[in-house]
Amino acid sequence: MQLYNTLSAIERAALIEEAGKERLTISFYTYAHIGNTNIFRNHLFINWNDMDVLGRIYVAHEGINAQLSVPAENFNVFKEHLDSISFLENVRLNIAIEQDNLSFLKLKVKVRHKIVADGLEDNSFDVTNKGIHVGAEKFNELIEDPDTVLVDMRNHYESEIGHFKNAVTPDVDTFRDSLDIIERDLAAHKKDKKLVMYCTGGIRCEKASAYYKHKGFEQVYQLEGGIIEYTRQVEKNNLENKFKGKNFVFDHRRGERISDDVIANCHQCGTPCDEHVNCANEACHLLFIQCKSCAEKMNNCCSDTCKEVHELPFEEQKALRKGKVVSNKIFKKGRSEVLKFKK
Ligand SMILES: [Zn+2]
Ligand SMILES: [Zn+2]
Repeated sequence: MQLYNTLSAIERAALIEEAGKERLTISFYTYAHIGNTNIFRNHLFINWNDMDVLGRIYVAHEGINAQLSVPAENFNVFKEHLDSISFLENVRLNIAIEQDNLSFLKLKVKVRHKIVADGLEDNSFDVTNKGIHVGAEKFNELIEDPDTVLVDMRNHYESEIGHFKNAVTPDVDTFRDSLDIIERDLAAHKKDKKLVMYCTGGIRCEKASAYYKHKGFEQVYQLEGGIIEYTRQVEKNNLENKFKGKNFVFDHRRGERISDDVIANCHQCGTPCDEHVNCANEACHLLFIQCKSCAEKMNNCCSDTCKEVHELPFEEQKALRKGKVVSNKIFKKGRSEVLKFKK
């Protein structure tokens, strides 16, 4: 029985090109109790490999998180297979708008400790006991309710360039930190307020809503599919868009514009700007907001020190970095004393 890839990425790319068939890029996730993760992993691999499905899938005792490329002609068979698994029946599938036939070149199904690195080691609560999922229309209603507290479950650099009106946006670097801060700030309202939360694609709220229910919050709601699905529903159903600014995304685009409002400022001169960049000094790589004119003046760097290093010959820069930790692998996002206008 074949349980692993037999083709290399290059061979696979050639086959896909040759076949010339349309493929769909799909993602989905769900928290569920999975007993034997290895058996489940093999079950997925055998079935999906037969359907020529490619992608990266994480399976853990707490659930599944999958990013896939499925041949369009096999979509129905694939969907039927998902529906045959009790906790994946009718799972919401995010289908990418921009199709890329070469988005994945192998099928990798990996057993992991967790499906998202959330820093939460509390196993005392049931991750499947989630909040009430709401779509865009209901969400729009809920967030106008005076008994609602709307919370942004994302990190500071994400909410800085865009968030829902009236949202609480914790000034945190990690998901773990925001859980504690929100619990502390809302401790007196576990019964009387509706706790409504959202994040980018919904997965952080799946965990957070279960966590807050466990902590005694009685009315917990979450935006189904996050800002991404909200935007899609708003456009499709002609609803009022209550999201201001840009949705931060974790790929090369860094942000998707949702409304024309620019709610952030250049961290160097304070002018309205919501363009994230990485400091051009490879040893720094800080993620921050920089306007075009500061980018020109600072040679795309976050500070004078970085500018000096960046302007050295490449070999000298390399020598300077020698023996130091590669800082772009460190979690370093939008926090630096030199950024005068970082709110
Ligand atoms: Zn500027
Ligand atoms: Zn820098």
